[in-house]
Order: sequence, then structure tokens, then C-alpha cells
Amino acid sequence: AKEKGRNRFKLFYPSMAERERQRFTLETLLKKAIENAEFELHYQPQVDISLKSVIGAECLIRWNNDQLGWVSPMDFIPLAEETGLIHDIGDWVLATACERLRHWEETQAPFNKTCSYLAVNVSPRQFAKKDFAQRLRHIILSSGLQDLSMLELELTEGCLMHHSYESIKTLAQLRNIGVRISIDDFGTGYSNLSYLRNFPLDTLKVDQSFVRDCIADSKSRAIVKAIISMADGLGLSTIAEGVENHEQLTFLQNLGCRVFQGYLFSKPVAIDEFEAFLNESISV
Ligand code: C2E
Ligand code: CA
Ligand code: CA
Ligand code: CA
Repeated sequence: AKEKGRNRFKLFYPSMAERERQRFTLETLLKKAIENAEFELHYQPQVDISLKSVIGAECLIRWNNDQLGWVSPMDFIPLAEETGLIHDIGDWVLATACERLRHWEETQAPFNKTCSYLAVNVSPRQFAKKDFAQRLRHIILSSGLQDLSMLELELTEGCLMHHSYESIKTLAQLRNIGVRISIDDFGTGYSNLSYLRNFPLDTLKVDQSFVRDCIADSKSRAIVKAIISMADGLGLSTIAEGVENHEQLTFLQNLGCRVFQGYLFSKPVAIDEFEAFLNESISV
């Protein structure tokens, strides 16, 4: 048995070391990614179905590294959170979004009159930093953006669960300057809903796992129904994300949801492609 144990250990050990090494490489490369301009934002349209028009977009970060190729945000955002690199990365995302909005403001573009905002993901550790609201104000001022309602922040339930007094203060500061707040991945995070009473919010994003399963699974259907009717009762709007087909769209539309995001309309695309998409008519 002792022999076996030692063998198991031997087999296990290199993979641990290998994982550590990979993580270290990723971290080292991630540290240099901003100064090397390796990040890019992609934009995924949010469509108002009653207007048949794009009303805004979610900004999603992309990392293209010479050595690693394209790295998914699912692989590097958690590492960025653990290492604290998320603050600089998050600032870069916010600054890039604000510069684009400022450009729209200046040039009266995009020429589709209904497209009026960009939504930016904010991760829990980034939001929890004491000076988050101040950093954001600084970024907005540097960009020259005037109409702050063009900026929406997507927070997760995780942003709001740990630091409730501080987070209410931060949210109030953000809302006071006009920024809009949506709750991302709604229904997958924290089960205590009392924050919905206390926090100033605008939108709930129905998580894509519920949207994905709403046709085949009656429980997911019940959850989606409950989320939409609760949002309605709270005076919040809803966005359904991850909409991939017409069955899902029709089901959600019948529940009163009007704003949709998903591959059915467009995947996240580079800025030129997004702005070109605004001039196309949406047919569903
Ligand atoms: P998320 O915020 O929930 O973003 C939605 C994800 O679903 C995106 O993946 C998007 O490309 C994908 N998606 C959109 N439509 C569909 C669809 O119809 N079907 C399916 N199956 N997927 C769809 P992505 O871009 O890989 O981002 C993954 C996650 O990484 C995001 O999830 C978000 O949590 C995080 N993330 C991305 N960009 C940023 C960022 O700038 N800052 C922070 N803090 N997190 C980010
Ligand atoms: Ca999001
Ligand atoms: Ca989401
Ligand atoms: Ca998610």
C-alpha cells in the first residue's frame, strides 16, 4: 500500500507543478498585456425587439498574445482577480468604452439613433476597491464624455453581497453621476434577494443558463418567468442574454421581455463590424 501511495504521489506531483508553472507563465504575460496593447474590446449588440433596433452593446474583453494566441476571458479574468491585475485591466476596459462613447457623442454617431449606451463588466474585486467610484469618475473626466447615462455597469450579485454598506455608497455615487447599473447573470449568484430593495439598480440580466434551458426544462421556464415578473414589480427592466434561437426569443417575448442579446442577432464583434451592423435592419 505504501508503494502504491508513493506511485500515486509521483504521478500527481508533476501535474501540480505543471499547473503552477502554467499559471506563473499566464500571470507574467498578463502583467505585460496592457503596455503591449494586447487587449481588444468586442461589442455584442443588445436588441430592442419592439423597435427592431440595436439600443446598445455589451463590451467584452479579448486578449491576443503572441505566445498563447487568443485567451478566453474565462481563463484570465479569474487570475486577474486573484492577482489584483483586474484593477488595471478594468480601468483599461472602462477607459476604452468611455473613449468610444465620447467619439459617438462628438461625431453624432452611431447613425442608428437608437443605439445609446455601452455596458461594461465590473468584477467583484474591482468594485470592492474603496476608490472604485473615484477612479471611474477620473476615467470619465479624462475621456471628455458628457452624457454619463451612456455608460452602464454590469455588476454580478457577488459584487453586492460582501460589502453592503460600502457598496450601497459606491452605487449611490455612481447613480448620482448618471451611470446605469445592471445585475449580470441574475439568479446564479447570491440567494438573498434583499439587496434588490436597498440598492439603486436599473436592469436585471436573465442569466444565459436559464435562457439556454427554457425550452427543454420546465424549471428553468418557471425561474425565467419569476425573474421577469419580479423585475417588473420592482420597476426594473430585463435583458435576456445568450438567446440563440427563435423558440427562446418567442418564449421570452411572450413573458414581456423586450431586450435581447445573443448569437441569434450577433456574436461579439470588433468595433467596425459592430458599427456597420447598426445600419442593417434587424429581421426576426
Ligand atoms: P458574461 O458577462 O456573462 O458575458 C456573456 C458571455 O456569453 C460572453 O462570453 C459572450 O460572448 C457569451 N455569449 C453571448 N451570446 C451568447 C449566446 O447566444 N450563446 C452562448 N453560448 N454564449 C453567448 P465571453 O466574451 O467569453 O466572456 C466570458 C465572461 O468573461 C463574461 O461573462 C464575463 O464574466 C467575463 N468578462 C468578459 N469581458 C470582461 C471584462 O471586460 N471585464 C470583466 N471583469 N469580465 C469580463
Ligand atoms: Ca456581462
Ligand atoms: Ca452574463
Ligand atoms: Ca457569466
